[in-house]
Amino acid sequence: MRDRFSVGDVQISPDHYIGGKRVSSPETFETRSPMDWDLLLGNISRGDAKTADLALQAATDAFPAWAALSPKERGAYLHRLADLIEENKDAIAYAECMDMAMLLESLQLRLVPRGALNFRNYADLAIEHEERVWDSKGTHNRVIRMPAGPAVIITPWNAPFMLSTWKCAPALAAGNTVVLKPAEWSPLSASLLADMADKAGFPPGVFNVVQGYGAEVGNALVSDPRAKRISFTGSVPTARVIGKAAAENVVPFTAELGGKSCLLVFADADIDAAAKKAAGQFDDSGQVCMAGTRIIVEESIAEEFERRFHEYTDKHAMGDSRDKATTMSAMIHPIHIARVEGFVDRARANGDTIVRGGKRHIDGKLWYEPTLIKPKSNQSEVVQSEVFGPVLTFQTFKTEEEGVALANSTVYGLSGIVYTGSRERAERVGRMVRGGTVWVNTFLVRDLTAPFGGIGLSGLGREGGHYALEFHSDLKTLQILEGSTR
Ligand code: NAD
Repeated sequence: MRDRFSVGDVQISPDHYIGGKRVSSPETFETRSPMDWDLLLGNISRGDAKTADLALQAATDAFPAWAALSPKERGAYLHRLADLIEENKDAIAYAECMDMAMLLESLQLRLVPRGALNFRNYADLAIEHEERVWDSKGTHNRVIRMPAGPAVIITPWNAPFMLSTWKCAPALAAGNTVVLKPAEWSPLSASLLADMADKAGFPPGVFNVVQGYGAEVGNALVSDPRAKRISFTGSVPTARVIGKAAAENVVPFTAELGGKSCLLVFADADIDAAAKKAAGQFDDSGQVCMAGTRIIVEESIAEEFERRFHEYTDKHAMGDSRDKATTMSAMIHPIHIARVEGFVDRARANGDTIVRGGKRHIDGKLWYEPTLIKPKSNQSEVVQSEVFGPVLTFQTFKTEEEGVALANSTVYGLSGIVYTGSRERAERVGRMVRGGTVWVNTFLVRDLTAPFGGIGLSGLGREGGHYALEFHSDLKTLQILEGSTR
């Protein structure tokens, strides 16, 4: 076991958490702060096939007893964990802010409390989720939800704490044990979650965290037949690799992937509200899967919209994410900002017009200026591919039909944002825009009972509400011949 290290006042274990104990790997990897790349936060245990084996065995051994508890009994653990998240809100927020530069205030007010809510929500939903009972063809029928077994949960580097709680909560509530592998670029908050699960008294092996690279420990986890569910959030190329492993073992697999969502603005909309929301797509430096990165505006209001958009964008401030005045964080990693630069350089070379931004805020640092690009054509790479940075495109349309066609013209379909003052159009266009979630005149409002997921290359399956509970269960139909028993 390695010593804990400090991030501010927060003590963090660099090790895996397996079978209720901290476990080291001989190799480590570094985690650094995007706000100051010279600042090494810690050396984290780098898991391998042996780590995956240990974790899956612990999860397999713990499964029968956890699965045998009632939803209410399991829910009590989840509520205790939620209490601990609330008690440790500031520590989690601080560690996550240092690790991946998300704004501290946003973590404290929004994302960490949402982590607690995820556990509470699923603790209660699993209790309410009644078995279906009916009579048919002379038999008494009952649908039984059986926990499926160990669930492997793989999360990306953006919003790591919120996403890991969102994905682990339904698995645990449904009666599965969990092996969580967070992304190697933001590993700290998962280690804190392991501490809290330990303190909440989860039986050893019910909740496990392994750290390390996707191609190493991640691959070993998803390829192992002891994994009975694989729940993944991340990129399309990784989903293809994991999907193949899941297919090999015939294991159910969900994938929450990237997007290239539209922000479709009609002339009858509140132009100022739409322009403000468009500038808001630079929040978290655009490292948001659901961001409306393709601004598509009705031609008659395009000039007015663009003027207001620039006014709102001018108000963005890049800086230290602990500072309340900062609205745009540093980007996660030098590799990622170089990737974003590559998209903009290719757009420039392609003849797309860089209207603003298009460069780092300070040479050698990880802030990228809010960037607006008018593409030469709808086929430009910057319109068609997910950049996952503060880079928005701007296009116009003349008719509703043309606007919707542009909105639906990518391989993705995670979400969409529509601005219109007409209820009729809201209903009509809302149905037509391709996406697992479409918001009209708002963005990111989430009801945790609603399904969440993507269409096309944005994903497979649905999370949220009872949809995630069903994914984590094996359903059985029990039929008893009426009158055949006493
Ligand atoms: P990524 O695919 O590179 O990595 C995601 C996770 O997969 C990491 O933990 C990584 O270690 C692991 N991994 C990589 N190769 C693996 C393998 N062979 N086997 C098992 N695990 C493996 O994605 P990323 O760069 O961390 O995340 C950004 C992407 O995630 C973006 O495309 C973004 O849109 C998407 N995302 C989607 C949602 C959503 O809910 N739809 C939410 C957040 C992020």
